[in-house]
Amino acid sequence: MIIVLKPNVSSRETAAVLKEIKRLGYRPHLMKGVARSVIGAIGDERSHQSLDVLRAWPQVESVTPIQKRYKLVSREAHPQNSTVRARDVVIGGSRVVIMAGPCSVESERQILETAHAVRDAGATVLRGGAFKPRTSPYEFQGLGEKGLKLLSKARRETGLPIITELLSEAHADLVAEHADILQIGARNAQNFQLIIAAAKTGKPVLLKRGLSMKIEEWLLAGEYVLSNRNSGLLFCERGIRTFETYTRNTLDLSAIPILKQESHCPVVIDPSQGAGRADLVMSLSKGAIAMGADALLLEVHPNPKEALSDSAQQLSLDGFRRLMAELKPFIAAAGRE
Ligand code: PEP
Ligand code: MN
Repeated sequence: MIIVLKPNVSSRETAAVLKEIKRLGYRPHLMKGVARSVIGAIGDERSHQSLDVLRAWPQVESVTPIQKRYKLVSREAHPQNSTVRARDVVIGGSRVVIMAGPCSVESERQILETAHAVRDAGATVLRGGAFKPRTSPYEFQGLGEKGLKLLSKARRETGLPIITELLSEAHADLVAEHADILQIGARNAQNFQLIIAAAKTGKPVLLKRGLSMKIEEWLLAGEYVLSNRNSGLLFCERGIRTFETYTRNTLDLSAIPILKQESHCPVVIDPSQGAGRADLVMSLSKGAIAMGADALLLEVHPNPKEALSDSAQQLSLDGFRRLMAELKPFIAAAGRE
């Protein structure tokens, strides 16, 4: 920590600050300037008591941390990329993983038809919401447990592992019984008790970025997964809210290289929620892969026009097949399979 004192602070007031720094378990190092002094406080900021309390002292101008607030998700803690396994699918390895399926599970026919089509086109994880976080209580809320059972049936038929959203702590065991990856949605990205409940199931957790969440807040939310003894964390960028109206959200692709610098955890991009428009999904997917994304999460529906949620952004089965064909050279150019 760097503590900057106000100009012309007396030596008695300076000594009081040095004493408090020692009391809190740090070693102070005083650097006297002409008008003001700066104190370097040496110690582990993450395990000692925080020196933040000094901000309230009248002779202190600022207190600046040097160490990162997140520990386990940081690259310092784990210099190599980590990988996350869902059944026999590895995310974060050499292979770019495509997770595809409808926004919501709507019927047996819809989920089975989609599951077979996306698998045949090269997807290796099936997505589908059974519990849906809808802005309006009058919109389709998902099939709940019935939807989970349909997802399990689709896995039995196709072999694809399942990713589905966990909306409530009360559903943690039920959802974990059916899912291979638990999705924490954008609206719950800082619902820490929910994140802890997801982590405690032991299943991998895909943590979406919140609608107005800074990357540091997102990394700290991810820290709740790793600090609850679950190493299966995936970060998923799905667009943030800005002033732009041509897209539903602004997909922040700059989050990819930033997360890669800051963290060892795999990065997933969801261009479907990001754009809110099916016609942009191809370009955003290519960009995401070129920039180092480890996986894509894509909405695909056999009849997007009739989808019960997010109809404007879902790819048709044909659209998905085209996308998979066009992505191939981008995957190769990124040095991936
Ligand atoms: C979804 O994946 O369908 C979804 C609701 O995502 P988000 O939480 O990113 O809005
Ligand atoms: Mn959706």
